[in-house]
Amino acid sequence: MPPESLRCKECKTNYPLEARYVCERCFGPLEVAYAARASADPAELRRRIQAGPHSLWRYSDFLPVKAPPRGLLPAGWTPLVRADRLAEQLGLREVWIKNDAANPTHSFKDRVVSVALARARELGFQTVACASTGNLANAVAAHASAAGLESYVFIPADLEEQKILATGVYGGNLVAVRGNYDDVNRLCTELASEHEWAFVNINMRPYYSEGSKTLAFETAEQLGFELPDRVIAPIASGSLFTKIARGFEEWLEIGLLQGELPTFHGAQAAGCSPVATAFQDGQDFCRPVKPDTIAKSLAIGNPADGPYALDLARRSNGSIDSVSDDEIREGIKLLARTTGIFTETAGGVTVAVLAKLAERGAIDPDDRVVAYITGEGLKTLDCARGTFEAWEIEPTLASFEQAAERAHAVA
Ligand SMILES: *Cc1c(COP(=O)(O)O)cnc(C)c1O
Ligand SMILES: [Zn+2]
Repeated sequence: MPPESLRCKECKTNYPLEARYVCERCFGPLEVAYAARASADPAELRRRIQAGPHSLWRYSDFLPVKAPPRGLLPAGWTPLVRADRLAEQLGLREVWIKNDAANPTHSFKDRVVSVALARARELGFQTVACASTGNLANAVAAHASAAGLESYVFIPADLEEQKILATGVYGGNLVAVRGNYDDVNRLCTELASEHEWAFVNINMRPYYSEGSKTLAFETAEQLGFELPDRVIAPIASGSLFTKIARGFEEWLEIGLLQGELPTFHGAQAAGCSPVATAFQDGQDFCRPVKPDTIAKSLAIGNPADGPYALDLARRSNGSIDSVSDDEIREGIKLLARTTGIFTETAGGVTVAVLAKLAERGAIDPDDRVVAYITGEGLKTLDCARGTFEAWEIEPTLASFEQAAERAHAVA
């Protein structure tokens, strides 16, 4: 399916495949449109995919890049783990965890950045940039260094220290802005019109967002080219959530998958829940909010793809829920203690919403459920502080036995 044009999601006007993102006619967002495949033989396509590299580039037939670039940091092909102990705890039968913390910079942002940077290089850009809630900063800095591109990474100054350190280490220009993400994004939109830079999530956004489709492709392939019944995924701007659905839809259209689009459940933090609130209120648009949550990677108060996320949840019979900071911490703990996977706060949001849905009986116990864990717990370590106590002892047998006795007396 060769990419054909950028097309306005609202009025369908076509534009060349350049670094642009808004429709000049109606100000709607642009997305990549593909030419229809002449003769799509699903068996042949499947063979091509299976012979591909163990990275997201095995799906390059479905991405807006001419050839898979060489010499880049490979992203994707992360584990899909069956989580029976978690399922049992929730009263469900089949729960899978797509662990996207297992990417080079430990979040799903490696996927979107891989595609945006590959396209930026094709378009001849020397400098890449982004407005980030944290994980995108890590990914842009790392992939730019691997590709030998200059980078400018803009973050809110109050970001978790782990994410700042894990960005600075790659070199590149790191700019901490005194403001929240929405302020950072506004500044970057102004900068994008002043400089010849590829802002991965602004003027490169149509290409960037295509990277998230690979989460759907991988899930389906790892399930033996089958679909889940339900999907739980976090929402910040809503791009990831809607593009997972687009991935499944593309494969349904060409016959690589059979059946119906899964039911989509979105997950937000209560401290930044413009999409969940609009869903509950029956609105088609999101009212912007000022974020106040420990889930900083999801703290986008004015989500660009909010209306499309609402539409997806409604047409797939799903929902969009929000959970408190305490529920997020519980979600992190529940996942760690039943699967051995330590996720960051965004994953805590996803697991807490999964638990909430299971509790209110919204999930058929026999459904095949996939929950998307999008980031690594070591990046938001503060959330683990105070949730347990280590035994501190002298290096003697007696001291250990004493401590063990004390611990078991308490328990
Ligand atoms: C960016 C991000 C998301 C989702 O972002 P969208 O803007 O909705 O695509 C989810 N989880 C983590 C950890 C992220 O960094
Ligand atoms: Zn338009």
